[in-house]
Amino acid sequence: MEHLRFKSEREEREWAMEGKLCPKLIVVLADLVERRWTLLKQESVVTCIFRSFAENRGIGGTSNTHCEWRAVDIRVDPTQLFVEMAIRVALNERWPTGVAKMPRIPPLDHGTALHYHVQVTRDEGRARLSTRKETT
Ligand SMILES: [Zn+2]
Repeated sequence: MEHLRFKSEREEREWAMEGKLCPKLIVVLADLVERRWTLLKQESVVTCIFRSFAENRGIGGTSNTHCEWRAVDIRVDPTQLFVEMAIRVALNERWPTGVAKMPRIPPLDHGTALHYHVQVTRDEGRARLSTRKETT
């Protein structure tokens, strides 16, 4: 994906792993990365993809989305907060989750540092695993 970078080799390695991230997540991320490039002329940096359950407990994680490969974090530029927040609103309007139109990206100021946490639902994650063809 163009204009995408990684915090460390770990995220780069995880990004390259086949069949882990669901296609829907990658589509939403591509939209985010494109908007940040268009509006801010900034490459987007992936700061987190996978977390073990132990790592998640260690940082006080409140959900298991990273443990289940259902979320990717992108760094926010705190000097461009107004634009970053507008991008979040636009993305949540375009890509609400199916579950009662919940936002796909929570507020940017959760966790330890400002970031986009982009996630898919369990159902979307499961859909990618079904490769079996329907027979009528
Ligand atoms: Zn996250």
